[in-house]
Amino acid sequence: MSEGWYRLAPGTRLVLATHNAGKLDEFRDMFASFALDIVSAGDLGLDEPEETGTTFVENARIKAHAAAQATGQIALSDDSGIAVDALDGAPGVYTADWAGVPRDFSRAMEKVETALGEKGAREPGQRRAAFNAVLCLAHPDGRDMIFEGIAPGTLVWPPRGTMGHGYDPMFLPDGHERTFGEMSAAEKHSWAPGRQGLSHRARAFALFAEAAL
Ligand code: IMP
Repeated sequence: MSEGWYRLAPGTRLVLATHNAGKLDEFRDMFASFALDIVSAGDLGLDEPEETGTTFVENARIKAHAAAQATGQIALSDDSGIAVDALDGAPGVYTADWAGVPRDFSRAMEKVETALGEKGAREPGQRRAAFNAVLCLAHPDGRDMIFEGIAPGTLVWPPRGTMGHGYDPMFLPDGHERTFGEMSAAEKHSWAPGRQGLSHRARAFALFAEAAL
């Protein structure tokens, strides 16, 4: 392979290594202005690998390499989650697991709120949290690149808004008065050259786009 394998020319097929519908919707929006041939792991019937890593980077690598190897094509994964300061960074890489099986994010948000209550964390300053997203772009030959985005904010209760997915209704990003659950898709993760974007995923995507698109 030549250097610059990660530069994705128009028409290149890119496998999105996720089965998460919320993430997929956001990626499809962010890729809308690029003429790539995007296909998801779910569309291809790929298995979801076990996320055995203890960091976002490790899990993003596991998912991207599994998809790249299964398809022989370049794959992009996203490992993400919310780290709550008062909970020593939990749920972190276990953010999806806190929603149980099948996933129930109302229950997951209640679990976070209960844990915060047990710490006596009621004031906004005691309820700091950050959404993290790590994207891994992997080539079938084993090379990869990592892009990380963070969105800092505060957790509110009760949850507000019905838009977005996952923990969005309890996350108030810094500098805003509405939660991610109260924001339109465009506000939460719209992406444009030279703009930082608001969400963790949009911020990681901006770095990816700069390198690869
Ligand atoms: P994983 O990356 O598959 O381990 O799952 C990450 C989990 O973090 C998702 O299932 C969501 O619950 C949560 N999450 C990640 N990004 C977001 C977001 O943008 N909004 C709300 N929840 C998110």
